[in-house]
Amino acid sequence: MAVKLPTLPSRVGLIIGVANKRSLAWSIAQAVSLEGASLAFTYQNERLRENVEKLAGGLADPLVLPCDLNDDAQIDAVFTAIEEKYHGLDFVVHSAAFAEREALSKPFSETSRDAFRTSLEVSAYSLVAVARRAAPLLAKSPSARILTLSFLGSERVFPNYNVMGVAKAALESSVRYLASEFGPRGIRVNAISAGPVKTLAASGVSGFSDFLKTYEQRAPIGRNITAADVAEAALFLLGPAGRAITGQVIMVDGGYSIMGV
Ligand code: NAD
Repeated sequence: MAVKLPTLPSRVGLIIGVANKRSLAWSIAQAVSLEGASLAFTYQNERLRENVEKLAGGLADPLVLPCDLNDDAQIDAVFTAIEEKYHGLDFVVHSAAFAEREALSKPFSETSRDAFRTSLEVSAYSLVAVARRAAPLLAKSPSARILTLSFLGSERVFPNYNVMGVAKAALESSVRYLASEFGPRGIRVNAISAGPVKTLAASGVSGFSDFLKTYEQRAPIGRNITAADVAEAALFLLGPAGRAITGQVIMVDGGYSIMGV
């Protein structure tokens, strides 16, 4: 008779930011799912619901929930549903950002108050809103992690990245403040600053293909990074190897950011 060995309890993760199969969040979801994690997904609106349901449907017993990050009640509902289904949470991947298209093509000084506020709210404040609600569940996990996605436009000027650069600066600073506050509760908070990858969000930045060309030419690794590169770095940060890393922005950019000329 086969002996049934005790299995480790599988980890539970929340993945925010899948729009389609090109989404960085989807690559991360696939990687953590292969490691045995159970996953809850959110979708921004009805337009994206089918995409997310279809992708998540290929995984074992996922939870798929609506969540516009501008809506506190929807964010609350996500954590209520996770607690009901899984009774716990081990990690959150926050991979969402937004800026109005106009703000990503006009001169930066013409950014309207509304465009500035919207971009900062969705792309930076949402991490704080999510982290606060996730913390009570995460604090019960032996390896709690929060991971978000940033871009070098937070500290250097990229043509047309504009208000998204400002939002990413706020996001990275929020990572540090959250890491400091949550560290004593065992929750690690980090960001991956990824090189450019062709996704839906990226296509909103006017001239994004020039970013790709420049990175390919100048990054020490001699190529653009892929969503799989990001996913594997995420696995490292979300897993046991990330236990002593918090408040960091880890560059997954093929080394582009070290170059002068
Ligand atoms: P993506 O378009 O696949 O993902 C962006 C996600 O943000 C989408 O799922 C969208 O639904 C979500 N979102 C936007 N507004 C929202 C709202 N109000 N409520 C809920 N969700 C909302 O593109 P991506 O490139 O995978 O982007 C994921 C993250 O990675 C973003 O933070 C982006 O800035 C960052 N990033 C991307 C690149 C790149 O080159 N693609 C590079 C560095 C960092």
